Amino acid sequence: MAPKKQPYVCRGCHRVVDGESCVMCGSSNLTQDWAGYLVIIDPKHSDIAKKMNVDTPGRVALKVR
Ligand SMILES: [Zn+2]
Repeated sequence: MAPKKQPYVCRGCHRVVDGESCVMCGSSNLTQDWAGYLVIIDPKHSDIAKKMNVDTPGRVALKVR
């Protein structure tokens, strides 16, 4: 097993990205310099999702530098 690589996070919307560009906003402005993420399962019923302006399920980084 290879060591797990830090995934990229979109600088625009803080979404954790699996590929080379953000699936949410199409940006390729990504960074690996982030810490902690939140899993949004039900954005419509999540106060944190609302606070972070997230309206689709997924992983969102908490701190992006
Ligand atoms: Zn994005």
